[in-house]
Amino acid sequence: MLKNSKTELTQFIKQRAVELGFSWCGIAEAKFLEREAKHVEAFINKGFHGEMKYLENHFEKRLDPRKLVDGAKSVISFAFNYFQENNFSNSEIKVSQYAWGKDYHEVLKEKLKLIVNDLETKIGKFNARCFVDSAPVLERSWAANAGFGWIGKNTMMINKQMGSYFFLAEIICDLELNYDDAIAKDYCGSCNKCVESCPTQAIHGDKTMDGSKCISYFTIELKKEMTTDFQQKWNDWIFGCDICQQVCPWNRFSKPNTEDNFMPLFDFEKQTKKDWLEMTDEIFNSTFKYSPLKRAGLQKIKNNIASLKKS
Ligand code: SF4
Ligand code: SF4
Repeated sequence: MLKNSKTELTQFIKQRAVELGFSWCGIAEAKFLEREAKHVEAFINKGFHGEMKYLENHFEKRLDPRKLVDGAKSVISFAFNYFQENNFSNSEIKVSQYAWGKDYHEVLKEKLKLIVNDLETKIGKFNARCFVDSAPVLERSWAANAGFGWIGKNTMMINKQMGSYFFLAEIICDLELNYDDAIAKDYCGSCNKCVESCPTQAIHGDKTMDGSKCISYFTIELKKEMTTDFQQKWNDWIFGCDICQQVCPWNRFSKPNTEDNFMPLFDFEKQTKKDWLEMTDEIFNSTFKYSPLKRAGLQKIKNNIASLKKS
């Protein structure tokens, strides 16, 4: 490995992040997340993860990045804006903004790999793994530790200048780098808008959320048939929900993203419930081949719409 100073490498990474379209990059020392340990345990013990059993796994790895990557010294966090220009406010059905374009997992993973490759060209091989919204990494905690913002009452990561419409991603590596300071202050203050606006009362106000009550969980993750009447509170959301971000005052600073990959793949506004119910597998598979909507699949989306119709 060629000799480069910590400062040179840190600057190089942050510069590449900007060039690849990330809005922010910050770095924290890889260590055990002591404060988060009891929160993760309480979340699981209270069953707030619902059927998302994968969240029960890798407890140790989720709290200590050194158990994910041999010799890990740094967690490099990235934020990528996905706020959309058009809010499709007239659409008969609603799809969360993050899912309008191509699947962010794939788009951002490619960008992270480019940064790792560029670093290897510069300094030779090193140990690194790239993560995008991956269960073993507590990405909001790492972004907070590296100074991006604070975790709001809606449990989203919020930046004072840019709001919360961001994907987070990480490179965990064995490079020693310069570390950023966490933001000490929480700017939610006495605001309670997200708590009051959540249609299913999933947000508790103490920065915890019952994931098993969230519309995103019902419309994407829940595999079995609904046995409650929660769908009456879905407000026409058929894939995810943006309400607790829409009402957050810090999102008045959000700026539309300019990433081609995240431009809407489909005219969600024009599509009626009837159009969705009549959509063939062939059309769905070709239109949403690269979309996060694949995760739920057409049948699940149709079931979600059918639930709305009953309400
Ligand atoms: S995404 Fe919607 S349902 Fe889920 S917590 Fe936020 S407002 Fe509530
Ligand atoms: S809506 Fe208010 S309380 Fe909720 S996350 Fe935003 S600032 Fe915090």
